[in-house]
Formats: sequence, structure tokens, C-alpha cells
Amino acid sequence: MPVRSLKFHFYRLLLGVALVLLLAWVTGFWLETLALALLLSAAWLLVNTWRLYRWLTGGRDAPPESLGVWSDIFDRIDALQKQNRKQQERYQSVIREFQSMTDAFPDATLVLDAHDCITWFNDAACSLLGLRVPEDLGQPVTNLLRDPDFANWMAVEGKVQSHFEMASPLDSNVHLSINAVRYREDQRLLIVRDVTDIHNVERIRRDFVANVSHELRTPLTVLLGYLESMQDQCPEDLSPAVERMRDQARQMQNLLNDLLELSRLQTTSHESEDLDVDVPAMLMQLKEQAEELSQGNHDLRFEVDPDLLLRGAATDLESAFRNLINNAIHYTPDGGSIRISWRDTPRGPEFSVTDTGIGIPKRDIPRLTERFYRVGSDRSRHRGGTGLGLSIVKHVLNAHDSRLSIESELGEGSTFTCVFPPGRRVEPENNGFAEEAAPAQ
Ligand code: ADP
Repeated sequence: MPVRSLKFHFYRLLLGVALVLLLAWVTGFWLETLALALLLSAAWLLVNTWRLYRWLTGGRDAPPESLGVWSDIFDRIDALQKQNRKQQERYQSVIREFQSMTDAFPDATLVLDAHDCITWFNDAACSLLGLRVPEDLGQPVTNLLRDPDFANWMAVEGKVQSHFEMASPLDSNVHLSINAVRYREDQRLLIVRDVTDIHNVERIRRDFVANVSHELRTPLTVLLGYLESMQDQCPEDLSPAVERMRDQARQMQNLLNDLLELSRLQTTSHESEDLDVDVPAMLMQLKEQAEELSQGNHDLRFEVDPDLLLRGAATDLESAFRNLINNAIHYTPDGGSIRISWRDTPRGPEFSVTDTGIGIPKRDIPRLTERFYRVGSDRSRHRGGTGLGLSIVKHVLNAHDSRLSIESELGEGSTFTCVFPPGRRVEPENNGFAEEAAPAQ
């Protein structure tokens, strides 16, 4: 039925009042007529309110039949309810579509609230992480993925852009990569991907390089030994050829050593090697090696804080520091000076090597730590270089939560600085052998 306007109902009310007044005037019973009219309208109101209540609570589809303004009220409510139902169906179909879409995702997706409790997850989260509905909804994610490193990563995630890798709680052969995306003010989306295949390919690559390097090392050592002994005895016309062969064999040996070093760094667990490292004593040894390499051709200066010890892996740190010092010697012409410093700064313990060498073009600096990256071969005075030294340095520093900064001016020199987090400094009271460490001059 078409809904009539408010004006129409108002005129009808006025007409009704006029009729009651006319009846009262005709009969002369003013009070009784008015009382009866009020009683009848109150009864009408009550009846319709009761019918409205029964309709809304009874869940009946069709609205009750009525007259006048009440008929319009029922029709209007009925229209609103129908509109509401249609909207709900639309929302539900959108939600169903979204759910079937996220369930088709091969990656597990988890929605976390401000306290890192799980508010929603898709089907892949059940198969990859073993989550259950509804038991795990509302649980803190760190209670379900019980890995202390994951909890630490969750605590700092957001401050550093990184991803986390861990074994699946269901199967330790399955490797997962976890990324977090922050949305709205305090909610996070965790996206967990199965990276077992990539992980396996990477492991096969590492094992292959390590095995080949290892297998080649022994024959190469034999070859180099023969070439070195031949050099003293061979006829003069063969001498340049033997010398070239020896240089190439040495170059190959350096490459194998660096490849083996890199593969060792990639396979060892660094946490297990986190010990107090006597860096001043280590630098004393490196100083002797540097003097031998430089053969007195450079002004070598070591400025070492004798009390500054670092928590880390001694072999790896020594390898990184040696690479930086050797590079400075290789890329600084004779007569140049090299300053090696180990000191404490407000940013944390800092190791730096400054040279007055050939320097590095600005455009090459960001790529220096890539494997096999070498700045223009024509400038490579240092023939034993492999292009792996700075990759080793970067790897070691990453494992020590630190970074390498490089400043260089072409033709003037370079500074390589490793800044370690303050948390890695060994406090003097815990430093059992600081007093024995003599400063390296
Ligand atoms: P390499 O074994 O060739 O020295 P690295 O990874 O140690 O390999 O270094 C990469 C490149 O960075 C080198 O080829 C060299 O050109 C440049 N480089 C490294 N250290 C220095 C330095 N102190 N001064 C100038 N160039 C440097």
C-alpha cells in the first residue's frame, strides 16, 4: 500500500477531533463524549503497540494489517527491514568471497591485534602452522609459534624492516619465511610462506661450492708446491711461464680459501659462538701479519683501546678485520699510511681502517659487498684479489647485528668502519682478561 504523507494524517486527526466536538455539542454531554473519545484512542494505541511488539518479536514476515497512521508505520518498518536484510546478505556474500579468496592463498595469513593475539587466520595457517579454529583465536601468536628468536623478532619488528625464517612447528623439514605488515594503528598482518624449495636449492648450492672447493684444494696445493720448486731449477726461457702458472695457481688457491670461508660462515650457527672476544690481543696478531704483508712499505698505525672487549665469534671477527686491513695494504701505494683503530663510541664499539690509497669511485661503493664485485680490473694493483673479501666482512657483521660503512674519495683514500651494537660490548667488570691485554702500538 502506498505510504501517505504526514499532512494527510494530520488533517484526518483534525477531522476526528472536529467530529468528537460536534457530537459533544449535539448531545450536550461534553465531558462524557471527550472521555469516551480519549478512552477509544488510548485503546487503539495500546492494541497497535501490542501488535507492533508481537510482529517485531515473533519473526513473522508480513506486517500486521491496520488502519490510518499505524498502517503506514507498519509498512515503513517492513520496508526498512527488507532493505536491512538485503544489505546483510550483500555483506555476507562479500565476507564469504573474501574468505574463500584468502583460503585459496598458499601463504598463511594471520591478523594480530595490538597485543599480538590472533584475531583471524586463513586455511593455510592450519596446514603450515597447525593452528586450530576456534581454540587458537585470541591466543598470543608467540604462545603458538614457540621460538625465542621469533618472539625477539616480533618485539623489534617494525623498528627494522626484515623478515624472519624458522622451521615449521609441524615439520622441521619445512622452512617458513615470515613477513609482518602493519596496518591501521596497532594491527599487524603476518604472512607466512613455505620457502623449503628455495632453502633446499640454497643449501645444495652452498654444499656444492664447499665440496668442489674442498676437493680442488689438495690437488692445487700439490701443483703449487711443484711449481714453486720448479721455479728455482727450470731453464731460463721457461721461467716466465712457470712464474705465471704459479701466480694463477695462487690466485685460484686464494679463491678457494675465500669460498670455503664464506661457506663456513653461512653454515655455522653464530649464537653458539657468542663468547667474550679479546679484540686487542687479536689485533696484536693481525698487526704482525699486516707488517709482514706490507714489507715495511706503509706507515701502519694501530690505535687500540686495550680494555675494549666484544661479545661475538672470534674466528669470524678475525677474518673480517684481516680482510679490511689486507685490502688497505693492497690498495694503498707504497709510502702511504694506514690507520687501524679499535675504540668505544656512543654508538657502540667501532673498528675502522683508514688508508691513503687509491680510493673507490662513488658509484661502486654500494655494490662493493656483492660477491665477486671488483672495481675496474685495470686499477687492480692487487693481483691476488678474489672479490669475496668484503662479502665475508658483510656476512660476519650481519651475524653480529652490525654494519659496514664505507667512505672513500677517489685518489685520496678510504675508511671502512664496522659499528657494533652497544649490547655487544663486554663491560669491564665482566672482562676477566682485560688487564692482560697490552695495547698494540
Ligand atoms: P678483493 O679480493 O678483490 O680485494 P674485496 O671484496 O675485498 O675483493 O673488495 C672488492 C673491491 O673493493 C676490490 O676489488 C677493490 O677494488 C675495492 N676495495 C676494497 N678495499 C679497498 C680499499 N681499501 N681501497 C680501495 N679499494 C678497495
